[in-house]
Amino acid sequence: MEGANERNWSRIDADTILHPATNADTLVETGSTIIESGNGIYLTDADGHELIDGVAGLWCVNAGYGRSELADAMQRAAMNLGYYHSFAGMSNLPQIQLAERLLEIGPAGMSKVFYGSGGSDANDTVLKLIRYINNVRGRPEKKKIIARWQAYHGTSLATAGLTGLPSFHRDFDLPISGTLHTGSPDYFRYGEEGETEEAFSARRAAELEALIQEEGPDTIAAFIAEPVLGAGGVVPPPAGYFQAIEEVLNRHDILLIIDEVVCGYGRVGSWFASQHFNINPAMVTTAKALTSGYFPMSATFINEEVWELVREGSRKHGNFSHGYTYAGHPVGAAVALANLEVLDKEKLVDNAATVGKYFRQQLEELFRDHPRVGEVRGEGLLQAVQLVEDLESRRYFEPGKAKAVSQQAYKEGLIVRPLPTVDALAFSPPLILTNSDVDTIVDRLETAINKTLAP
Ligand code: PLP
Repeated sequence: MEGANERNWSRIDADTILHPATNADTLVETGSTIIESGNGIYLTDADGHELIDGVAGLWCVNAGYGRSELADAMQRAAMNLGYYHSFAGMSNLPQIQLAERLLEIGPAGMSKVFYGSGGSDANDTVLKLIRYINNVRGRPEKKKIIARWQAYHGTSLATAGLTGLPSFHRDFDLPISGTLHTGSPDYFRYGEEGETEEAFSARRAAELEALIQEEGPDTIAAFIAEPVLGAGGVVPPPAGYFQAIEEVLNRHDILLIIDEVVCGYGRVGSWFASQHFNINPAMVTTAKALTSGYFPMSATFINEEVWELVREGSRKHGNFSHGYTYAGHPVGAAVALANLEVLDKEKLVDNAATVGKYFRQQLEELFRDHPRVGEVRGEGLLQAVQLVEDLESRRYFEPGKAKAVSQQAYKEGLIVRPLPTVDALAFSPPLILTNSDVDTIVDRLETAINKTLAP
């Protein structure tokens, strides 16, 4: 980094920046970790240390780092039209072409896309839409939304409440009213002795039904779920889960919202996890890998029924008065188009499926008899290793073990994400990963685990 030797940038960072999702107190002592550059699946930090990015940033750099296709598209678009808004019916070519492409590859039954800048604003949009369309339909009491414990849906005032991780509520006076939570789909953690996955799914569906009855079906508008829980543990749906949940929701006219902010754009080995797991949502939120993280952008898909109600709202009240300055940004849309083309041309969605399978096999083989690993779980190139202090009782360590492993892994040249609430290690590498990269990752992980966890 230019000037890195003369000035202590890490210290200046700690003196000037309030970091997201960071211990504000300890950062003052430790300083920040500065990442200087990226290429392919590799990052280089300010000390010149080369690392495999096993997480693709925050689950988003699907095309990998240093992509000239994306950089060139960005440069061309910025020179042509650096910005223009989409309010009052204004538009630009890249966002139109992108919408057409998204509806081609998107989950079945989607009718329109709504653009924003990130996952939180996409989920906020959905929260506003469920209020809006129920008012349009003359059902003002049908407004509540049910999310799940262990979910992650963002950190805005409304979406942090949907997020089912207590630290995102504490001292922020959240959730806001109208937000409910039901049990998480984490079978490893909550499955009972002798209970099959199907029986666990049926139990979760029965609990959902009970919550709906308790609150009154006429007060519940929607249910929101990540297809695979991300930050809350990388937990794929147990067998029969979404079928059982959808049956309950359909019976009570409750909309299913699928948050594909992590899973969308190839991560699980299909373009979208809704397709992969055969889920039938009314709205789908996406962001992150839409641009492989190169530009902050979200796209929310809505189905025809939702669209018709929004249209009716405009007939009644005029403008749909919701939207963001950067909605349909011409530069972001051009980057997204270039990114989708890369994913397509290089068959990276298929690669996520095949290399993901190999990755899973290698992890399972490595940890088959490991006394400190409870399970390996995930889908495609979204995988996690669950640490346990005691395998038999599935007892977790005191919080912090996953973090210790990840710190050692960093020294070995590998970034893995410790998920503090479940003490698991999460992987979501760029989709350009090869089998040989997997072997290197698994080697480095093994060293880190052996150095950190006593057998
Ligand atoms: N939804 C999911 C599933 C996420 O994992 C995230 C972020 O990690 C969000 C929503 C929020 O996205 P953003 O941080 O872009 O607001």
